[in-house]
Amino acid sequence: MRIGHGFDVHRFTPDRPLVLGGVTIPHDQGLLAHSDGDVLIHALCDAILGAAGLGDIGHYFPDSAAEFADIDSRILLRRVIALMVERQYNISNIDITIVAQAPKVAEYIAAMKEKLSADMAIPVERINIKATTTEGLGFSGRKEGIATYAVVLLNE
Ligand code: MG
Repeated sequence: MRIGHGFDVHRFTPDRPLVLGGVTIPHDQGLLAHSDGDVLIHALCDAILGAAGLGDIGHYFPDSAAEFADIDSRILLRRVIALMVERQYNISNIDITIVAQAPKVAEYIAAMKEKLSADMAIPVERINIKATTTEGLGFSGRKEGIATYAVVLLNE
């Protein structure tokens, strides 16, 4: 077994859709990024790459590269999965924590799991996603952005 951890933060910005776990969530702000700003998928990619000993997302998809501008992060996830499969690892389970004071994301978690299970070609039961606030504390509590943590267990 191999374990990996991922963490990512993006700040809110007006005039962008909010995309989390591949799902567009109604909100008055989106997340600022070179890509679509899907902070959940970025943390997940880093956890998978970490578990596989393959470095990090910035190595494969640098934010200086025009080809990744506004890219759908699900494309990045599918590429990360391809790298993992090449090395003959498979996913045992994934646990993800979204840290967001706003918006409330609970009602979108089932849809996120469906999209991620499709992109990773694993049963939805292997994916857990939960959300928490920070009780108004820190950048998340001030609604300046969203953080996400992801932990992945791979089998060799
Ligand atoms: Mg990111």
